Amino acid sequence: MANYWNQEIECMSREDMKKLQSERLVAQVKHVYENVPYYRDLMDKKGVTPDDIKSIDDLHKLPFLTKADLRDAYPYGLLAKPLADCTEIHSTSGTTGKRVVAFYTKNDIELWHECCARAIVAVGGTEDDICQIAYGYGLFTGGAGLDGGSHKVGCLTLPMSSGNTERQIQFMMDLKSTILCCTPSYAAYIGETLHEMGYTPDDIHLKAGIFGAEPWTEEMRREIEKSLGIKAYDIYGLTETSGPGVSFECEAQTGMHINEDHFIAEIIDPDTGEVLPEGAKGELVFTSITKEAFPLLRYRTRDICVLTREKCSCGRTLVKMCKPMGRSDDMLIIRGVNVFPSQIETVLIEQGYSPNYMIEVDRVNNTDTMDVYVELTPEQFSDTVKDLQSKEKDLAAAMKTMLGINPKIHLVSPKTIARSEGKAVRVKDNRKLH
Ligand code: ADP
Ligand code: ZN
Repeated sequence: MANYWNQEIECMSREDMKKLQSERLVAQVKHVYENVPYYRDLMDKKGVTPDDIKSIDDLHKLPFLTKADLRDAYPYGLLAKPLADCTEIHSTSGTTGKRVVAFYTKNDIELWHECCARAIVAVGGTEDDICQIAYGYGLFTGGAGLDGGSHKVGCLTLPMSSGNTERQIQFMMDLKSTILCCTPSYAAYIGETLHEMGYTPDDIHLKAGIFGAEPWTEEMRREIEKSLGIKAYDIYGLTETSGPGVSFECEAQTGMHINEDHFIAEIIDPDTGEVLPEGAKGELVFTSITKEAFPLLRYRTRDICVLTREKCSCGRTLVKMCKPMGRSDDMLIIRGVNVFPSQIETVLIEQGYSPNYMIEVDRVNNTDTMDVYVELTPEQFSDTVKDLQSKEKDLAAAMKTMLGINPKIHLVSPKTIARSEGKAVRVKDNRKLH
């Protein structure tokens, strides 16, 4: 039995959807060209005018936007509406220099909540449900997005935010929550804690979970489903496109339907920028066709993905994306925080260390760990053990300031970190997420 929030859109014929997307794209390109000088310049440089965009078949003519553009244009350079028309701001988990700030009008919030409402209904949510939201609230988009979706559906919303796990479980039992929304790693941790507290899934009333904002595997899905006695569904999004709800999983649990009436998805070759045919693996690019305040056109997500239009058993006709299979840049997501190796390198150089380092990431008991091995110069190496320990502490503190998370630092002897003959391999990710 399929449940839809907006059946007309979710099950729309391909032809009608293309028409709707084309109309919205044409209007959106005009809106952006007139109101965002930064993007107008990019279009002018490429020799494209709004008149060249007549339907989605012309989408490929538009220039791309990247995270670097967002950085250049920070904070207001991509804003397409007066600030007086904006009602909310959110920001990525990224840190100084990499921060993305997104703006929303009242209507943008409305549409975002609509997308999240579709996700909740797709997992069986109705006004009879009690929706426990354990994504972080605040600048992060997770809490706000699902909270809005839950209200829209008419669920009884339990805005827990993340953390305080025993209290989460207590409320879950006392108030009989039926849907849990949080990151998959937090869901796994809640499951573990439930068992440690001496309970079983029979003691709680959850039936479904909506988990996203970071990569997770099918194994992890099964583990969470077992430990909480639920069905676990994926949800995808990024701050640049509003937040969670760009795509969501249905009962088939075989990929996420993209809300195509709001976002046009393309897959491109990350090296050449060429648009790839359906079914090919490449970088996912989104064009927001309904957002007013922060309408990114052809935004390169860096997520590597495959799109499919194979018929889905749920009846939805919205295109499906697979779980992201990795990234075309070197960004790591550690405990939900975006980390770039270049940030670590910057700290090392600032603090007087050599740029010979190695980052090792792992997941222990469902929590990400980060170890950074840093090679000492022969002069630094002559310090006493006590000096080295205090140096490790100082360096960890400097990293924490830059990254927002605390890595474990290991200062190692000169010439012990392998040199590379080609591209340096700086990251060893043992988490097996893909
Ligand atoms: P948010 O604040 O919504 O997490 P960010 O902009 O910080 O957004 O991070 C967005 C990135 O998180 C995406 O580009 C993608 O790499 C990752 N991500 C989000 N949802 C998922 C998901 N369901 N599976 C895998 N990766 C995801
Ligand atoms: Zn489906």
